[in-house]
Amino acid sequence: MFEPKGSRRDAASVIFNLPGYRVIGAVDLPLGGRRVKVAPVDLADGCPVCGVVSGRVHAWVVQRVRDVPYAGQVEVLVRKPRLVCAEPACPRRTFTPASSQLPPGPGARPG
Ligand SMILES: [Zn+2]
Repeated sequence: MFEPKGSRRDAASVIFNLPGYRVIGAVDLPLGGRRVKVAPVDLADGCPVCGVVSGRVHAWVVQRVRDVPYAGQVEVLVRKPRLVCAEPACPRRTFTPASSQLPPGPGARPG
């Protein structure tokens, strides 16, 4: 497959300014517009309670993002991991990596 040389950034950061994410799928919607799925590149993160780094995915959560700045009608689905803590004695069984939190967009409201 031909890959143009140039920016080494992933499509997700180039198109949506979402560094740390990669595009895992994109489809044209029947009524117009597009739906793009992105997921974090690096899944492993430290548990917020015990600090032990884990990359074991417990479940995936899909979050729809509306306020992605992009010229055109596009719906972005973010696939976020929920990790299992690698420390058996830790009271926190699962956690969402901080790295998979989306940066707040310009239209984001507190709360
Ligand atoms: Zn832990």
